[in-house]
Amino acid sequence: MATKVVVIGGGPGGYVAALRASQLGAQVTLVEKQALGGTCLNVGCIPTKALLHTTELYRAVQGGAEIGLKAEGLAVDWPALQARRAAVVKRLVTGVGLLLKQAGCRVIAGTARLADSRTVAVALPDGGEARITADRIILAAGSEPVRLPLPGFDLPDVILSDDALALPEVPESLLIMGGGVIGVELASVYQALGTKCIIIEMLPQILPTLDAELVNGVRAHLTRLGVEIHTGAKVESCAPAPEGVTVQVAAPAGPLSFSVKKVLAAVGRRPATRDLGLEAAGVAAERGRITVNEYLETSVPGIYAAGDAIGGTMLAHVAFAEGTVAAENALGAARKIDYKTVPSCIYTQPEAASVGLTEEQAKEAGYKVKVGRFPLAANGKALIESDEGGFLKIVANERYGEVLGVQILGPRATDLIGEAALALRLEATLGELASTIHPHPTVSEAYAEAALAADNLALHIPRRR
Ligand SMILES: Cc1cc2nc3c(=O)[nH]c(=O)nc-3n(C[C@H](O)[C@H](O)[C@H](O)COP(=O)(O)OP(=O)(O)OC[C@H]3O[C@@H](n4cnc5c(N)ncnc54)[C@H](O)[C@@H]3O)c2cc1C
Repeated sequence: MATKVVVIGGGPGGYVAALRASQLGAQVTLVEKQALGGTCLNVGCIPTKALLHTTELYRAVQGGAEIGLKAEGLAVDWPALQARRAAVVKRLVTGVGLLLKQAGCRVIAGTARLADSRTVAVALPDGGEARITADRIILAAGSEPVRLPLPGFDLPDVILSDDALALPEVPESLLIMGGGVIGVELASVYQALGTKCIIIEMLPQILPTLDAELVNGVRAHLTRLGVEIHTGAKVESCAPAPEGVTVQVAAPAGPLSFSVKKVLAAVGRRPATRDLGLEAAGVAAERGRITVNEYLETSVPGIYAAGDAIGGTMLAHVAFAEGTVAAENALGAARKIDYKTVPSCIYTQPEAASVGLTEEQAKEAGYKVKVGRFPLAANGKALIESDEGGFLKIVANERYGEVLGVQILGPRATDLIGEAALALRLEATLGELASTIHPHPTVSEAYAEAALAADNLALHIPRRR
């Protein structure tokens, strides 16, 4: 008889786990309490990029004279943009439902919790309860935004990213707490729409986990747009004002006060595992993060976990990979995730993306490094698409020339980084990247040139003497 697998959560971690388990011949039940596709499809990656796509086009056409475009009466139709965002989301969510159906997975709408190590109890929308016994359980309950216990955080005008994606109208001003990826991408959207955006970041730089050169590029983009950025600064309280919120901020140069229409709290996400019945099944967790071994098995044999619920890098592509591996291991494999090949992407204009080690990290890890850097001002396609500069940088091990990391700032950086992830995965060398024939004209040619530049042999920039 087929192995019975129950998956809790229908986001990228859970639905992919369900599809893979089903491919492997299991009898799969997936329980989802809200909408298939989870955070990513409904209130995360997809809706943010739908908004960014339009606002970046809007900006490009506003500056159209330079690229030979004339437009009169150009304006953003916010309700139409919101309708498109919703339509794109709906189409993808429906697609996930169809995929699960075609794969023969049973989908139950309801809130699941572990009743014991082999039983999942589901609170159904009609008030009833279903109990499902399982041979294997995969926990993929995802994450939720963090709300800080600060005065005024419960005000209706202090919103979370879910709300920020579907505001009924474009606010005049928006103070964004948190200069991480979500804060930066939404600042880019709203500032382009005419909102005055202010970012308050507690750490010394925005996008704290990213290579400093990439951060400078994104920061320059935001500053050009008109976003006001305060780093090393901390929101202390919010209070109601006649037309929105007054925000008190402790900044390095002294206290600051802002009056804004809305405040967006984008201060991080935490695993949504509180009501999952972890204790009832004896599943260990640390500060809400489900503890897993390198095979993604929890402290209870037969129960696996994937995605944001286990913490680590909370990204959809990591959840996809973990969901796949959790399903395979639940059905007898012994696979591990190669976390060193996880790309990070920022979808601003220019885009920023990186994978593997930065130059500093490689040196700290004890490597003697060799760096190849190619300015995108010398790349025909990049110049056609954008005149905002950018670069592609390859960090390699001097000894064998194998690629240790890549950082890109420029058009399509988020697509281009896939090649670097593959290079890392295959332990490709600078020589192999340089001798790979890249199509012309494309931004991807910069890989071969940057690889050559590591030996001062790039053909499309002058040799350093
Ligand atoms: C604004 C924003 C932008 C983002 N942009 C990107 C991006 O560009 N690229 C990227 O890689 N990542 C991005 N992310 C992160 C990405 O969305 C998450 O990493 C990803 O969705 C995690 O997948 P998951 O399956 O682990 O969890 P989720 O997507 O959170 O899915 C978990 C699902 O489980 C369900 N669930 C929870 N508890 C239960 C229960 N007890 N019973 C039944 N169902 C339950 C939830 O309803 C949810 O649908 C973004 C996130 C946000 C908020």
